[in-house]
Amino acid sequence: MNPSKLTNLMERRAPIYPVEEGQCRVQKEVSEPYAIKSRRVVTPAGLRHALIVIENGKIGDILRADTETQLPVQDVGNLVVMAGLIDPHVHVNEPGRTEWEGFESATAAAAAGGTTTLLDMPLNCVPSTVSLSAMEQKISAIKDAKLSCDVGLIGGAVPGFLDEIGPLAKAGVFAFKSFMIDSQSADFPHVNSADLVEAMSLISKLEGAPYVYILHAEKDSEEDETLSEASGHSNQDHAKHLQSRPEVWETRAIDEAIRAADQTGCHIHIAHVGSSNAAEIIHNAKIDGAYVTAEVCTHYLLFQSEKIPRGNTLFKCAPPIRSEDNRLGLWKALLKDGSLDIISSDHSPSPPELKHMKEGDFTKAWGGIAGLQYRLQGTWTASQPFEVDFMRLSELVSGKVADIFGLSASKGRIVKGLDADLVIWDPEEEQVIQESECLHRHKASAYTGQKLMGRVKKTIVHGEVVYEDGGGIVGASPGKLLLRSAATRDGLSREVVRDQVCT
Ligand SMILES: [Zn+2]
Repeated sequence: MNPSKLTNLMERRAPIYPVEEGQCRVQKEVSEPYAIKSRRVVTPAGLRHALIVIENGKIGDILRADTETQLPVQDVGNLVVMAGLIDPHVHVNEPGRTEWEGFESATAAAAAGGTTTLLDMPLNCVPSTVSLSAMEQKISAIKDAKLSCDVGLIGGAVPGFLDEIGPLAKAGVFAFKSFMIDSQSADFPHVNSADLVEAMSLISKLEGAPYVYILHAEKDSEEDETLSEASGHSNQDHAKHLQSRPEVWETRAIDEAIRAADQTGCHIHIAHVGSSNAAEIIHNAKIDGAYVTAEVCTHYLLFQSEKIPRGNTLFKCAPPIRSEDNRLGLWKALLKDGSLDIISSDHSPSPPELKHMKEGDFTKAWGGIAGLQYRLQGTWTASQPFEVDFMRLSELVSGKVADIFGLSASKGRIVKGLDADLVIWDPEEEQVIQESECLHRHKASAYTGQKLMGRVKKTIVHGEVVYEDGGGIVGASPGKLLLRSAATRDGLSREVVRDQVCT
């Protein structure tokens, strides 16, 4: 994307939906106004030597750094101050599988990684968030938890429960999600072609601004099965897992989803695009005016199949991590073509025993990478050869995420009046990832032992310091439950989606 197009997009970004805050059990205290000074404040207008005034949990003002002030000032020198990250793809697993990951541990790990808002996926918890009653159970779990960052919810659209889409929307979910292939969760069946069209028609007709319909876009067929059987690799080879989920699964599903979106007018969002050829299809569809956005995950941008150690099932995920050539293609799709819009973690942890690490068997291991805490460092490290600047980085992990999911009226950028959700970090410091510093419920992660660039020094949520390097989670729990308000305004229009693509 050329710089003028990016500026154009940022000028046109519309505040989308007002967000309501659910009542949480933990009472929040509002601290006195203060200011943060840095030589590297990442604003939509550029990198600034600035003073950020924080009052009532909001960004009160952004002033020149030499402005006289009576407020207490925290001078962080050369550390980068950026809008807190928004992660639109996190499997928290509570209620029902809190022993896999819960709201307290997930939001703590998020904060430690500079994430100040996460959107919770509707599956891997029990029950899956596919009905109003399941959503009520989810909300009651959240209200009982100490939240170190804000949490919004995504509802499931599954066969048998499509009539719950309306009630879930009214209750405040930010988006809907379906699988186009077996999800591995018994109460989250995948949609067939007819269900897909039905779900899209229902979602596109919901009241208010357009809702986003997120798709796990892989679709298998019987012919592909014989291909994986014939691969000749052992169960300890990542190559076997890679061959068992070929690129055609992604391209086939995305093709179908785009056709259905065109037919119904639904805004679809392709989750975790793992194939550069799939990104190419999205690129062409965007040029044709399709109402589609897409995300890639940090692990697809950082890792390559060729280098995954034999038997290291911590790297198993779906779609699989592909070749080095493919990784470079994904970067091109993200930075040059605009076919991929944002970066998520797809944090999908499990207890270590389900990873079958001793046997190192890719066919038995749970598919999902634990990466919530490492999204900023992992992305920053992977981006080094491409000279991504802080403004661009911030848009990919925060600003554009807010635009797509309807949070930009309150989050995603350092702009006066938005929530004071900030990450203060040192982009030059290197760190070898250690389990001892991991705040995920289970420490085993594909990122362990990786040398990453960048270190989070402080994370601020609603103006309150929630994480400090060396001190871990500190202070109160300022995180809130976010519900999409019924009083919706403009959605992310087709025109804005189209603006993001370079021809
Ligand atoms: Zn996922």
